[in-house]
Amino acid sequence: MLQFLNSDFQQFTQQDKQDKQDENTETEILNNSQRQLRVKSFEEKPANKPLNLIFQMLLQKKTQKRQQIKVDPKSIPLSINLSVQVQELPIIRKIMDKNEWKKAHNFDGDILWCGPDNVQQAKQFTYDFAMVFMNLCISRIPGAKLISTKKETTSIMAKMRQYFPSIYNFYPKTYTMPEDLHEFIEDFEKKDGISYIAKPDKGTQGQGIFIVSQIEDLFNNGIKDISYIKKNYIIQEYISNPLLLDNKKFDFRLYVLITSLKPLIAYINEEGLARLCTENYQDITSSNLSNVYMHLTNYSLNKNSQNYIIHPPDFQKINLGTKRTYTSAKKTLMKMGIDVPKLKLRIEQTIVRFLFGIAPFLLNSTREVYQDKWEKANCFHVIGFDILIDRDLKPWIIEINANPSLEITQVVQNQNGSKRVETSSLDAYVKTKVIEDAFIIAVKTPQEQIEQIGKGKYCNSYKMIIDGQAPIENLDLFYKLVDLYSNLCGLRYGNLNQMRFCRLANNPQLINELLIKSDYDLIYKKIQLKSLQPDLNFLNFLETIEQISEKLLKRKASNYTLQKAVTYVVNMALKQPSQQQRPQTAKR
Ligand code: ADP
Repeated sequence: MLQFLNSDFQQFTQQDKQDKQDENTETEILNNSQRQLRVKSFEEKPANKPLNLIFQMLLQKKTQKRQQIKVDPKSIPLSINLSVQVQELPIIRKIMDKNEWKKAHNFDGDILWCGPDNVQQAKQFTYDFAMVFMNLCISRIPGAKLISTKKETTSIMAKMRQYFPSIYNFYPKTYTMPEDLHEFIEDFEKKDGISYIAKPDKGTQGQGIFIVSQIEDLFNNGIKDISYIKKNYIIQEYISNPLLLDNKKFDFRLYVLITSLKPLIAYINEEGLARLCTENYQDITSSNLSNVYMHLTNYSLNKNSQNYIIHPPDFQKINLGTKRTYTSAKKTLMKMGIDVPKLKLRIEQTIVRFLFGIAPFLLNSTREVYQDKWEKANCFHVIGFDILIDRDLKPWIIEINANPSLEITQVVQNQNGSKRVETSSLDAYVKTKVIEDAFIIAVKTPQEQIEQIGKGKYCNSYKMIIDGQAPIENLDLFYKLVDLYSNLCGLRYGNLNQMRFCRLANNPQLINELLIKSDYDLIYKKIQLKSLQPDLNFLNFLETIEQISEKLLKRKASNYTLQKAVTYVVNMALKQPSQQQRPQTAKR
């Protein structure tokens, strides 16, 4: 056994190296032509910039010959059901009118639009709701709650970081309140040059966000007593070296479409937004930390600044607008000499990794709702990613939005100082692409999408970035955990009882002198007591597997890591009984 473990673990050690290679290979495969561009253009001296720029543009034109399926939306006569939508969104109506798509009633139609106005209803995404709309493609994935609050996202990212520290390093270190207060105070008092930003758990469009200057800031009225703690807050390491556009901090809002959770299929839209601050950025000092126009990129805040610049009609070109298209911002960055293809690739890789972290948890929620019919679940979701780029061109995922704004109006100041609301051509352009093309793709089956579109290729404005295959070995570990949990649960997904859980101990590879059969009962009871639930849910189950892995392997393997140990346990547990060896008698 020990010998086996050692050789198994040697493989894991090799896998670490492989992971690093894979990261590079991923870059190489996807980016061959772009790499040539980078090498040629960025090794030249800054003095060559204008020539360099022309060269880049020429090469970019070449690489623009991308593989693409073009679908005329009008050629697909869709019908959209808005019956669970409390208030119709102008953009949906606009898209329907443009393409002559019909409105469907009752339980009919191709697509059920579950927009932000009925978030409450979508939260009640129950089995009955799912069954009633089974034949429609639903614009929401069950479990969207996991991506709608910062606390939930933070806990999943923390878990992924624990397992894959070298990969999940694009989400700034985050503390949830009040749970991580002590850890935060310890880190804060080390005062090692890091600044921290405090944000309400649920997106508040910039309201209530502040940069922490002293611990008292975290308590209501500055009263340093646990009962006054700002509970629904998270605190995050502040990215203090942002890349600047026109000397201003900015972030990207990019749109990602998920059309299937197993296999995981996801796309990124070629268009998006760049949202700029309205005051020039300066490093944080005690005198500027409360200046929201310098540190926060939210449109909802900056639109109130007198420095807000409305985009020109030709918003795809380089311009000075405070809100720009992704395309326009990339052109400006390129002009500044930034390696835009490299940046784009890094952004895509970061999003892919994020999705592999979050998707198994979304799959778990989907299976909880749909039960044994989960494979028939026909859901898709457009997620808004807020991405900040630092001066080393590293993308940081600051937040994701389960309900990205589909607002297409803006407030404009009249000459006499009064204000009026009008359609923003920029928002309408970007968001129409995002929703219209999501509908066109979502009505295809996962198989059709993989066969007809394929990874790296575009369908209209969306590029497929995940076709079910994990780009890095073992990144689908949590998917395997969902499978194992499901195998053990049997017919009732989501509730694992003790008897079923203890079947794991029948596997001879999962017991040794450090972990005997009766320990399984103890582990189950311990987690059950902690959870205060009769049966284990998926997160509780994950905890039990971690304990099993630790007990079974920690003292045996010199190069123990949680990821390797859990991988071993899951792989063994998923093996068919026929492949398992005869039980060994394990005694303490
Ligand atoms: P909300 O959803 O309430 O607007 P966000 O997490 O999007 O909250 O934060 C608002 C803005 O604050 C971001 O758009 C960004 O400009 C800034 N910000 C948030 N977190 C960080 C961070 N960790 N480092 C630097 N800037 C940040």
